[in-house]
Amino acid sequence: MDKSRLYRGIPKVDVLLADKRIQELEETYSRETLMEAIRTETDALRAFIGSCEEEEAAVRQTGLLVPHIAKRVQAINTPNMRKVINGTGTILHTNLGRAPISPEHMQRAARLVSGYSNLEYNLEEGHRGERYSHFEKLLCRLTGAEAAMAVNNNAAAVMLILSSLAKGGEVVVSRGELVEIGGKFRIPDVMEQSGATLVEVGTTNKTHLADYEEAVTEETKALLKVHTSNYRIVGFTESVGIDELIPLAKEKGIPVIEDLGSGVLVDLSRYGITYEPTVQESIRKGADVVCFSGDKLLGGPQAGIIIGKKEYIDRMKKNQLTRALRIDKFTAAALELTLHEYLSEEQAMRKIPVLSMITMPAQDVKRRADAFARRLRRLGLPARVEVQPCQSQIGGGSLPLERIDSYAVAIHPEKISVPELEERLRRLDVPIIPRTVNDTILLDMRTVPEEDAALAARELKEGEVLEP
Ligand SMILES: *Cc1c(COP(=O)(O)O)cnc(C)c1O
Repeated sequence: MDKSRLYRGIPKVDVLLADKRIQELEETYSRETLMEAIRTETDALRAFIGSCEEEEAAVRQTGLLVPHIAKRVQAINTPNMRKVINGTGTILHTNLGRAPISPEHMQRAARLVSGYSNLEYNLEEGHRGERYSHFEKLLCRLTGAEAAMAVNNNAAAVMLILSSLAKGGEVVVSRGELVEIGGKFRIPDVMEQSGATLVEVGTTNKTHLADYEEAVTEETKALLKVHTSNYRIVGFTESVGIDELIPLAKEKGIPVIEDLGSGVLVDLSRYGITYEPTVQESIRKGADVVCFSGDKLLGGPQAGIIIGKKEYIDRMKKNQLTRALRIDKFTAAALELTLHEYLSEEQAMRKIPVLSMITMPAQDVKRRADAFARRLRRLGLPARVEVQPCQSQIGGGSLPLERIDSYAVAIHPEKISVPELEERLRRLDVPIIPRTVNDTILLDMRTVPEEDAALAARELKEGEVLEP
């Protein structure tokens, strides 16, 4: 096989630039990206020829050079972050963006951020305002706290609280609450970063009030409670509640801080979900400072919300770290809109996607699954489609043991393998992420709203993903 002839067969740059198909691309894309694509694809072709054993394959590949260049130019110009369809049934999916925000809120927020807004401008008095002002009163009204603010996420909130209230001093925490949340967020490490010294008390399964009493010294700046949101210790256990810690803290003149993690504002047990301590309850019991995530059970944008006594919140607002951890205007807008829905619980349950997904009755999910399965069958795809019961999870480190009865559409491909189908679903324009259980591809319809189901059906047909 004459490789040098094959190499000579690779079109030169000027020949490529004269190609009509390339010239068409130049109308849409810049010369720079076009040249980059030509260079990359030509190099790839040269490498292919170098390792190729069959002349025919090399010639075929050379013939595909222009389409490959076109594909690469398009890839360079396509944003990488894309919408996906979540068929996993995990509502707060950490890898899929955690809490979806309501489209209505995003449209309103888009109007605010695509122009100017009163983010830090007090319209009544005509001078500088505070970015927290838009939701501080609302948070206080909803939770009963005196003051509130928000930072980038709850990890940042914990760091800021400790840095503001306990830097250079000691903070007492139960050994049963030294949690690691996903993404390497560990309470002991955050504590170290904040400049506070961790004092561990009790054991993994049992901590008593006396343990705290003995640990408090002149150096103690705060008592910290961490809600073990992502795991449960069951059996022979005991922990000390906020209500018991308050009198001790009062006597010593130090604050009690509670990191709630999930931060739910409605009592979910009324909807058949395991009781998760609410933010209001923590404040009512007397916690001085409480923090929680904006994009877990609250169902809003990524944020770390801090509420509590005004004297402490004021110290945090003045901390230099706040400037580095502050939320942007997009978050401020989305957070205010999300919190507004909580003025009416009924409205919150209906309009906040996370809450409506969690509480959607299994029979409604079944109706959705039946409709989707019918639609797929009508398309005559080479697959057997059936509706089967399954269980959804909350995810995001919230309510780890909770399983919600749900329904899934199982797709059994007839002409390709399950791993093959799974990969093809991932490569669609709007990728579909299924749950694969026992070598079966399931789409748990609890996390697939109607519009996504319609889109998924269209993609399964047009993307020819089930064809051999
Ligand atoms: C999730 C969680 C965090 C971290 O919150 P992010 O918003 O993800 O930064 C901190 N503490 C607890 C108890 C949590 O559950």
